[in-house]
Amino acid sequence: MSAAAQGESEGREVAAWPLRATRPPDGVSLSDWQDWGWQMRHRIRDAAGLREWIEATPEEEQAISELATRFRFVITPYFASLMDPTNPDCPVRKQVVPRPAELADAAGLADPLDEVAHSPVKNVVRVYPDRIAFCVNNECALYCRYCLRKRMVGDSEWTMQKKELETALDWIAATPEIRDVLLTGGDPLVFSDSRLEWLLERLRAIPHVELIRLGTRLPVTLPFRVTDDLCKMLERFHPIWVNTHFNHPGEVTADAAAACDRLLRAGIPVGNQSVLLKGVNDDVATMKQLCETLVRMRVRPYYVYQAQLLEGTEHFRVPIEDGIELFRQMRGRTSGFAIPQYVLDTPHGKVPLDHPFAKGRDGDDFVVEAWDGAIWREPNPR
Ligand SMILES: *Cc1c(COP(=O)(O)O)cnc(C)c1O
Ligand code: SF4
Repeated sequence: MSAAAQGESEGREVAAWPLRATRPPDGVSLSDWQDWGWQMRHRIRDAAGLREWIEATPEEEQAISELATRFRFVITPYFASLMDPTNPDCPVRKQVVPRPAELADAAGLADPLDEVAHSPVKNVVRVYPDRIAFCVNNECALYCRYCLRKRMVGDSEWTMQKKELETALDWIAATPEIRDVLLTGGDPLVFSDSRLEWLLERLRAIPHVELIRLGTRLPVTLPFRVTDDLCKMLERFHPIWVNTHFNHPGEVTADAAAACDRLLRAGIPVGNQSVLLKGVNDDVATMKQLCETLVRMRVRPYYVYQAQLLEGTEHFRVPIEDGIELFRQMRGRTSGFAIPQYVLDTPHGKVPLDHPFAKGRDGDDFVVEAWDGAIWREPNPR
């Protein structure tokens, strides 16, 4: 564990205020570095590229080649610059650099939330009457090793066509109960401004769509994507809400904070969703520092997800009781709005791991009751 034992003093160094901006490596101009197109074009895709940034271990290099066809390795130079070059236990590095443990997870599933079965039309996931997740593409700036949608992201054959988006838009227009549309993917901010604008115009033309939210990790993985032009465009479609995805204080830079600030100044509330990841953020000191750093940036911690029973992610999963205890220990010890809700996502929706929804352990399963009264047993060995 990255451990409460390591304590606050060590944790405090990674996101010390004032936050530091990242700098380009030798030979790259600052304007290229801060250009999101440059970052996308210069992404690192193999072990040789990674070696320019870190001393990759033989295990990491082997995992990169063995996983190349299953769940590819891609990261932005910006994010690579946040990794500790010499420490393979770096919490930023662990999220994106493959490990052999990914190949040794017997229990994990491709689609633990059964999203395919909850899809009334291709690319739409509906588990609630009034709101949907609309997966608008399959691309991200980089690929997180624990990604819930690894069955579809990064797969070049799954390229979303405009026609497919239109089919989903037609379904939303024909379904008046839908008042809240969450654009996700992949990552909707990988779209060009014009493509995103087209999509938002189509959604805003549907009178019953009250709320549009974007789920995007780009403020964290490629903050330069959040340009003034983008914010000016988004502002025309209010109410727009954004949820981003910081997992560790080491991801918080002046660049990332500036991206969130541009969104906030455009009147867009910014929230954060993390995944509880073993050895990354599963101790009180790290989680508290992350959440306090976020509220300092005016970003509201919203959800922390229990890591799903997803293929190749066993080494990241934490016993649910340990997660409950972690958030119990934050209560009273920091601002109330710095405490996110710890949830388990299930085929019945998100279930707060909290009284009265968390029923407790039954052997290797953790039992919860969803909002609709359904009982769900999550395989979660201690
Ligand atoms: C997370 C999610 C939502 C939004 O849930 P909130 O609790 O309202 O944030 C909607 N639909 C699906 C399929 C989701 O996974
Ligand atoms: S940014 Fe989100 S959707 Fe993309 S790989 Fe990471 S977790 Fe998955």
